[in-house]
Amino acid sequence: MAASASLAAGGASGGGGTGAGFELRSAKVRPALAFFDGERRLRLRYSFRAERALDLVVRVVRAGDGRTVRRWVGHDLAPGRMHRRRWDGRRGDRGVPADGSYEFRIGPTGHRGARAGRFEFHDHRFPVAGRYSYGDRFGAPRSGGRVHEGQDLPSPCGTPLLAARGGRVQARGYSEALYGHWVLIDGLATRHDHFYAHLEAPSGVGDGDRVRTGERIGRVGKTGNARSEFCQLHFELWPRGYRNGSPRDPLAPLRDWAGFA
Ligand SMILES: [Zn+2]
Repeated sequence: MAASASLAAGGASGGGGTGAGFELRSAKVRPALAFFDGERRLRLRYSFRAERALDLVVRVVRAGDGRTVRRWVGHDLAPGRMHRRRWDGRRGDRGVPADGSYEFRIGPTGHRGARAGRFEFHDHRFPVAGRYSYGDRFGAPRSGGRVHEGQDLPSPCGTPLLAARGGRVQARGYSEALYGHWVLIDGLATRHDHFYAHLEAPSGVGDGDRVRTGERIGRVGKTGNARSEFCQLHFELWPRGYRNGSPRDPLAPLRDWAGFA
């Protein structure tokens, strides 16, 4: 059948059986670079041809191995109409899939589905939206026998700061002696907390506010003990939460996130 040729190209078989001549006509995915809990939610729009209304399976699969991370079934979908699907960045078990390339696939039940658009997915975003360098490392000695509990990122004063991961603002405050203006964010779907310090001014987000990955949370400054130095972000990562355990060296994750900033 003519209709099955294009389906086969999309990786599925079709024809007059359950597929009812299914053929994907158009598909568009936005944005091409998506962040977990990001400000722009991932959206798929598509239309198809078929002899009648169909139940269609829409899947998000890993581009490399084709493994399904999320699956939906739409019932009695009309051919020729535009259909929409949004993805919140979670697997079926509510976990968050690994960073990488993914694609949507669409097809009748029991078929592999036609390719419907590829995108990059990341679960964090680099927190400095501008020029920066890597300054003092985690573990560097500090006065009074303290050690440096984060990674410094020197950056021009006023550079926007973004939430590395969406979540809930746990606290914010000001410390003259150490951190200046700071904000602590509890990362969604993780136990991680992220701490941002030396902000130019109090963060524009308040206690308990919900923030999205990549949302503006302030500007780079030199408040607190950075006042005699230069503008910089002091960034901490607390894998089991700020009130539990201890911070971890955030340099490796920061370098990862920098790769797609
Ligand atoms: Zn620091």
